Amino acid sequence: SHAPAPLQGGPEKIPGVDRIIAIASGKGGVGKSTVSANLACALAAEGRRVGLLDADVYGPSQPRMLGVSGRPASPDGKTILPMRNFGVTMMSIGLMTNEGQAVVWRGPMLMGALQQMMSQVQWGALDVLLVDLPPGTGDVQMTLAQKAQVDGAIVVSTPQDVALLDARKGIDMFNQMKVPIFGLIENMSTHICSNCGHEEHIFGHGGVASEAAKIGVPLLAEIPLHLDIRVASDGGAPIVVSKPDSPQAQTFRDLARRL
Ligand code: ADP
Repeated sequence: SHAPAPLQGGPEKIPGVDRIIAIASGKGGVGKSTVSANLACALAAEGRRVGLLDADVYGPSQPRMLGVSGRPASPDGKTILPMRNFGVTMMSIGLMTNEGQAVVWRGPMLMGALQQMMSQVQWGALDVLLVDLPPGTGDVQMTLAQKAQVDGAIVVSTPQDVALLDARKGIDMFNQMKVPIFGLIENMSTHICSNCGHEEHIFGHGGVASEAAKIGVPLLAEIPLHLDIRVASDGGAPIVVSKPDSPQAQTFRDLARRL
């Protein structure tokens, strides 16, 4: 195997990739990966050439969500062929490690793996590459912003105060690194009962909208907490693909149109 190139130099474009959009969250479990997977599929359904780089090194979930498995091929031993499903070109750190194995790499190895996924994967011509980041404000976020020309970031949060507080740190970090915030997404916004359709604000309501207003960025979407979204993701076909006519899928298509 090849040692990753040393980390040096400033932000670079990935050849053939028009735009890089980072999907971030302050803490884990708020639905950042769910949003990334559905957004990618929605963009693909619109005919856009879309890639998804799963850089969530501590819990890569895109292989499961996008129904992709197996080890990516490297015919020349230098570059890596990405995987593809639902019209989305994807690569995940989860495909480079053994499933179920904890990622206990040290920082520099993680950064090397990220660098490798950006520079050695044959992404091809893409209108947009989404990067599903790990939660929080760590090395991966910094490396991405330093090494790649990130056009903007989207921060996913639940309405809960604690998730919001963490999201603020993420917003701060992107501001410091001069990465524009395209907007915020409120996930698990309202719970819609899959039985009767009754709506309830389990995690509170309006918190993300007021935060977006405060920092002067758009609220890009309010995505309901719905059983079908979780079931679809666990089943390896995001709701945008598996139930395209549902109102939940429509939420993600509306989001795709705003990007
Ligand atoms: P993160 O990437 O922020 O850690 P995930 O996208 O993995 O979060 O979501 C955590 C869990 O919540 C997953 O099981 C996912 O299917 C579920 N989930 C996320 N968003 C929703 C939603 N809007 N409705 C129902 N379940 C959701």
